[in-house]
Amino acid sequence: MSDSALADRKNAPQHAPAASGVGPPLWLLAELTYRCPLHCAFCYNPVDYTGHRDELSTAQWLDVLQQARKLGAAQLGFSGGEPLMRDDLDTLVAEARGLGFYTNLITSGIGLTDARLDTLKANGLDHIQLSFQDSTQELNDFLSSTRTFDLKNRVARAIKAHGFPMVLNCVLHRYNLPHVDKIIDMALAMGAEYLELANTQYYGWAHANRAQLMPTAEQLREAEAVVERYREEIGNRCKIFFVVPDYFETRPKRCMNGWGSVFLGVAPDGAALPCHAARSLPGLAFPNVKDTPLAQIWYDSDAFNRFRGFDWMKEPCRSCDEKTRDLGGCRCQAYLLTLDPANADPVCDKSPEHEKVVRVVREAAQRPATLAPGEQPVLFRNDANSRRLSDHPANGTAPANTVR
Ligand code: SF4
Ligand code: SF4
Repeated sequence: MSDSALADRKNAPQHAPAASGVGPPLWLLAELTYRCPLHCAFCYNPVDYTGHRDELSTAQWLDVLQQARKLGAAQLGFSGGEPLMRDDLDTLVAEARGLGFYTNLITSGIGLTDARLDTLKANGLDHIQLSFQDSTQELNDFLSSTRTFDLKNRVARAIKAHGFPMVLNCVLHRYNLPHVDKIIDMALAMGAEYLELANTQYYGWAHANRAQLMPTAEQLREAEAVVERYREEIGNRCKIFFVVPDYFETRPKRCMNGWGSVFLGVAPDGAALPCHAARSLPGLAFPNVKDTPLAQIWYDSDAFNRFRGFDWMKEPCRSCDEKTRDLGGCRCQAYLLTLDPANADPVCDKSPEHEKVVRVVREAAQRPATLAPGEQPVLFRNDANSRRLSDHPANGTAPANTVR
């Protein structure tokens, strides 16, 4: 975070928290649109995104930014879909800078022309996160179902030429884990300050493609060893983050640092979300910024309070001496795998349903370690598949996979 953003944050008016002692949100994820020119097999947008077409207007987004800043948020991610699909992105960036946010553009790079970079720079954008699907054209283009590898390379050069700090982001899975060394080489050659190697989290589209994407334990071990070797070799030249997939663990992650703890997401249609996968959960009415003030949403809404604290927990979490460490894990994963979001995340080996996770890992070990693109059918993110999955009760649990 920049010094000016920190200074401004101290001065930002704070909403008085409720008696519960809930602090303010620290970061705001503005998902400006679900529109995207890519069709990634692991897309983190909800599989029923076609059912949420309405987008907030420019004025409504400006109001969200102002309210979030007053509430205390200091970090702001512009995301999507592809946020560059919004013509008003430059206006929103300028407003965010004026309010004192530290701003990050999370993009596939499609539409990031020199002219757009000039304007974003002039309007005060701080940081850009550019996604690649792989270090090879073949796999990058297969996994996004587009021909975008060369364009992304040009965009990466342009980002650096405009003087932006850059995070290269690559989602990892069984197809590209054997390429981790080449992906790191690519990031170094591009001058990225950070490389985020994010192993796939199995929600939404990734859950629908779980059988195809789930790696073997051996692939993961080898990739981690490669990352360690590079870290020793390159020092601070590029900081590499390696996010381990929790299916291979026996304790879950402290998801979003706790429900309603620091993260506030606003979906393209204005739904406020405690995590970007939360709208897949049943029985929760997510408040909308169109008709409810952000402070009321954050402090008082049922959706944001439902999984705060410990009272909602069932056994074994309720009496567990580790509950303050992981807060029972991920509510979305608990729902996807056990059909009850208040259950323990079954990644935990104390969960009576942990065997479901073990079975997935075991099945992954029985498939050939490396797959050529197209070798198994993959369900790509597109409108037709979204409409088909929207009819299914547990979003992301595809009745049958299809090739696009
Ligand atoms: S994951 Fe791929 S398809 Fe999904 S929003 Fe990002 S670039 Fe678009
Ligand atoms: S039982 Fe619940 S609280 Fe305890 S370690 Fe497992 S997930 Fe965490």
